Amino acid sequence: MRYVSTRGRAPALSFEEAMLAGLARDGGLYVPETWPTLTGADIAGFAGESYEQVAFAVMRPFMGGCFDDAHLTALIARAYAGFGHVARAPLAHIAPNDWILELHHGPTLAFKDFAMQLIGPMIDAVLARRGARATVVGATSGDTGSAAIEAFRGLDRVDVFILYPHGRVSEVQRRQMTTPADANVHAFAVEGDFDACQALVKAMFNDFAFRDALALTAVNSINWARVLAQVVYYFTAAVALGAPARPVAFSAPTGNFGDIFAGYVARNMGLPIAKLIVATNENDILHRTLTTGAHMKAGVTPTITPSMDIEVSSNFERLLFDLYDRDGGAVSELMDELARGGFTLAQGARARMAEGFASGRASQDETRAAIARAYAEAGQVIDPHTAVGLVAAAANRGDPSVPMITLGTAHAAKFPDAVEAACGVRPALPARMADLFDRPERFEVLPNDLGAVEAAIRERARA
Ligand SMILES: *Cc1c(COP(=O)(O)O)cnc(C)c1O
Repeated sequence: MRYVSTRGRAPALSFEEAMLAGLARDGGLYVPETWPTLTGADIAGFAGESYEQVAFAVMRPFMGGCFDDAHLTALIARAYAGFGHVARAPLAHIAPNDWILELHHGPTLAFKDFAMQLIGPMIDAVLARRGARATVVGATSGDTGSAAIEAFRGLDRVDVFILYPHGRVSEVQRRQMTTPADANVHAFAVEGDFDACQALVKAMFNDFAFRDALALTAVNSINWARVLAQVVYYFTAAVALGAPARPVAFSAPTGNFGDIFAGYVARNMGLPIAKLIVATNENDILHRTLTTGAHMKAGVTPTITPSMDIEVSSNFERLLFDLYDRDGGAVSELMDELARGGFTLAQGARARMAEGFASGRASQDETRAAIARAYAEAGQVIDPHTAVGLVAAAANRGDPSVPMITLGTAHAAKFPDAVEAACGVRPALPARMADLFDRPERFEVLPNDLGAVEAAIRERARA
């Protein structure tokens, strides 16, 4: 299996190379050259299998022998062993034929753990084979940074530096980043906002001397291996509700378009998905694209669902590549137009997108109402991002005999203030991390200054 860039001007890579590279050298994202498929019998055979067994079968065709079977089995077992639920991604029944796929049982309570817990050890294993080291640098508004620190802590070959905006993440998010004691993970509180953190990270990747000296690696959601790991739970959820004999629908709270794109991959592999619903908050560029064909930036508004406060959804480029018949030149032009404000989808691309996806938008009031309703009607205390998914699911319900599965992207305890304001219940942390507030914190406050941040990283990195 080879990987090609969505902009068509970078060399094709193996799975291992694409995982280490993250972004392609032409600025594009890597996608598989072809979509491997599973037969109906393969999918039916997943019924009754463990999450780990399905993960092996779904991911292996994409990996081109990067790991032998026993090694891959061991990597998957290790990735999910720390989850708080033996099913890993269980379904909660909230109304007749309506379900929440609980993706919050990982160590940092958001779905990011599903991919990050796996790619940490995979990258470490590949580096060990090459006798190399790497330095992961990332900016976070909360969830990605904590998931990365938790996934890479204690690994031999990787040092991790996470930049977060000082004083602007929730206390739970901050403590998840600052309490791991391992020497190879570092939380940097930058005196600036999230955009400042992201700008510093971009500047480090563009400082080629620094980048090469430290072997910088990116683990944000443009990394193909992260998308791949998320394909698995579409299969386990659908099969639990009767697939492949019975098609199901999914609603995904969307920011960077990674999670919903994993659903698109599952469908391309042969999983019968009747509907893929892109759920957005008030930052609704993707909902507007689906309803009008125009993909135009309008500025980002902060909401009670911060992980979806995004308007340049990086992984949308992967879908555009398919919508434009895998024409890298066409995608490059669209990305140039987006940098200048936006673009309008060609007629054929728009029609194809409408065949594959539906969408919905939730205002913050609708989001709060959905949190209150889930508590009143099903006794479920849900997080605000999940609530956005429920609003979009209800707006696109269609045939009531098709099971509707909303991705529950985070645990309510990650956003306790918004949840308590909406339903009156203050969600508690799961017992396995109840001592989060007692553990000692370790972080460095740094100025919003490239030289200072690079110096701090040089001092601590082993690469
Ligand atoms: C990251 C995140 C999202 C958005 O997922 P994408 O893959 O970026 O679309 C939604 N909800 C939560 C809680 C998240 O952490």
